[in-house]
Amino acid sequence: MTENLSNDKGLEYISENIKRIKEEIAKAAIKSGRSPYDVKLLAVTKTVEPQKINYAIENCGIDLIGENKVQELLSKSEQLTEVKFEKHLIGTLQRNKVKKIVSAVSMIQSVDSVRLADEISHVSSSLSITSNILLQINIGKEESKSGFMVEELEESLHRISLLDNISIRGLMCIPPICENETELNQYFENMYRIFVDIKAKKYDNILMDILSMGMSGDYVNAVTHGSNLVRIGSSIFGARIY
Ligand SMILES: *Cc1c(COP(=O)(O)O)cnc(C)c1O
Repeated sequence: MTENLSNDKGLEYISENIKRIKEEIAKAAIKSGRSPYDVKLLAVTKTVEPQKINYAIENCGIDLIGENKVQELLSKSEQLTEVKFEKHLIGTLQRNKVKKIVSAVSMIQSVDSVRLADEISHVSSSLSITSNILLQINIGKEESKSGFMVEELEESLHRISLLDNISIRGLMCIPPICENETELNQYFENMYRIFVDIKAKKYDNILMDILSMGMSGDYVNAVTHGSNLVRIGSSIFGARIY
């Protein structure tokens, strides 16, 4: 039995999910006093087959996808549609993989150390490109998560802003699992405050136009509290099978 990969039958749920999510995002954006167009939807495609990703791009208006593994991002790329879209890396990046990824994505959201930023700068310079990055913040101070601690952010920001061929576009976080919404919202509020503070300082070479927070389980809260980029996987494509 051969499978017809161009057969889109049975994928309509993806389109329905995206439509519903966009409506929820729009409502939350309006609730926070913004336009629905201020919030960007990134479809997280880790473990998702190319056929489904292509369906989302070709039929559902998705123009931004995110992968969290360098190898998966690179190996799937060849099987993706010709229709125009952007790719972000959203997962932990090891310095020895920087060379492979900088020219393959339009943004690295998961920069978690000055040393990593330094390597991205180095490789970007050698390729004569500028890499857009977000700094990942360990907002819940969790051992298990990577990212800058809030206390070290100012100093790290300064050092990264001095590096060539890097544009700091904003911040990203994955909040801890919370017992209730009040606790969760507090993390998002903290992130928003940090984001606005840095933006107000108008540092050279720091643009701060992107606040990436919100996943399947919490994107409404995230947008309500100021996120302008949500990263959604399972609510679009269904539960991941590893
Ligand atoms: C997997 C992943 C997401 C999406 O998670 P869902 O809960 O499936 O929406 C978002 N951000 C990062 C960094 C991820 O690794």
